[in-house]
Amino acid sequence: MKKALNRVYGVILNDEKTLHTLAPALTQDPYKQPAKAPVLYIKPAATLNSEGSVALPQGVDALEVAATLGVVIGKTATRLTTDNALNAVRGLVVAVDLSIPHDSYYRPAVREKCFDGSLLLSDVYPYQDVSKLTLATDIDGQQCNQRQLSDLKRDITRLLVDVTEFMTLNEGDVLLLGVQYQAPQIHAGQIARVSCAGLGEVTFAVHRNAPVALSQVKTLSQQVARLGRVLIDGQVYSVTPTENAGQVKTADGRVFAEDAVQWLPPIEVGSVFALGLNYADHAKELAFKAPEVPLVFLKGGNTVVGHNANTRRPDDVTYMHYECELAVVIGKTARHVKADEAQDYVLGYTVANDYAIRDYLENYYRPNLRVKNRDGCTPLGPWLTRADQIADPMNLNLTTRVNGQTTQQGTTKDMIFSVGALIEYLSSIMTLQPGDVILTGTPEGLADVKHGDIIETEIDGLGILRNTIVDDKTYYRA
Ligand code: CA
Repeated sequence: MKKALNRVYGVILNDEKTLHTLAPALTQDPYKQPAKAPVLYIKPAATLNSEGSVALPQGVDALEVAATLGVVIGKTATRLTTDNALNAVRGLVVAVDLSIPHDSYYRPAVREKCFDGSLLLSDVYPYQDVSKLTLATDIDGQQCNQRQLSDLKRDITRLLVDVTEFMTLNEGDVLLLGVQYQAPQIHAGQIARVSCAGLGEVTFAVHRNAPVALSQVKTLSQQVARLGRVLIDGQVYSVTPTENAGQVKTADGRVFAEDAVQWLPPIEVGSVFALGLNYADHAKELAFKAPEVPLVFLKGGNTVVGHNANTRRPDDVTYMHYECELAVVIGKTARHVKADEAQDYVLGYTVANDYAIRDYLENYYRPNLRVKNRDGCTPLGPWLTRADQIADPMNLNLTTRVNGQTTQQGTTKDMIFSVGALIEYLSSIMTLQPGDVILTGTPEGLADVKHGDIIETEIDGLGILRNTIVDDKTYYRA
């Protein structure tokens, strides 16, 4: 069952005890006001632990053992209603979401929550009403926490409705129901057991960080300089450019107009990392100080679409902007890689457009997924250009045009954290895998986009990624 699980999303601030404890803080800086929408985070694939054994990250003495349940999605779930939400549920899992202890919910806690093996899930059990269930946490045989699941702020139905309002959940995705503030701590040499009568349990041991041994190194290679992926008559094909601009060729030699095929993202994406404020001019544009460590957050697969896609601007929003970004695709399992060796782990590069809708930006656990992880809001492509085709990824011009007018111009020279530095940082936290993608941030020059606008994001040597902004009616008809 575990192998069939797909992406794992969690929600914070979803129980009465946590909300009560934090209530005074949540009306002050930096939060300013309690969140209105669910505040979500993503556990990347590297966190999924099937060993029952967890290594403490370097320099860490204790981990918080947060017990929760996860809802396993059984079929594609978009804009669910209170009447049909539970039909999308395949079952429930007992989950332990381990964190390095931290107090702030202001920034995405990637270092604290995304280290290797930090998520343990039980087998999948049939759905049942969780409001009468209790989760018990034992450490070395001593019960140290009991949690009633009657205290959820949003119950499963409400959570599914509110989350799928802005992002699709797919079969095999897991939505964790929320972890309590300040869970019990576990140290090296101890064993924890989290159990839920009526469902199942999870048991694991914690040990000091062992020498890093990558159990399995995977690599992806690419024979041709440029590769795209398209759908033709419902089948996925790899395509390459032809000598004529605007045409693509399949491996069996058929030639199509670029606009006559449906483009997919150029690779099947794994974990998608995005960088906030990685260009000094853009940080200034938004009135932020440049960050001292990379400000990383994760995105789900639902948001990624290919070249020539439609992207929805909800009819009632007042400001939505593009972000032209260099996207780096990992080609080889990477753990504790130094910046000056990082090039060896890059398969290639592509262009990303990382849309954001300002209306949904709450002064909160920033940036939130309602702003940054909406369906179809991260076009990627058209091509994956092999790394050896790009002499210097840190010297590429980025340009965005809205209906042919240039609105954004910058150069990757101005990144605060280079591609190498980002790979070093991320691979110091978790194991990166082939197909993982890093969106490296955007320079200044943001502008509002409107229904019908055609947006082109272009990067030297990588191509032009085109995208059309559409209204609700057009988007949901397509
Ligand atoms: Ca961005």
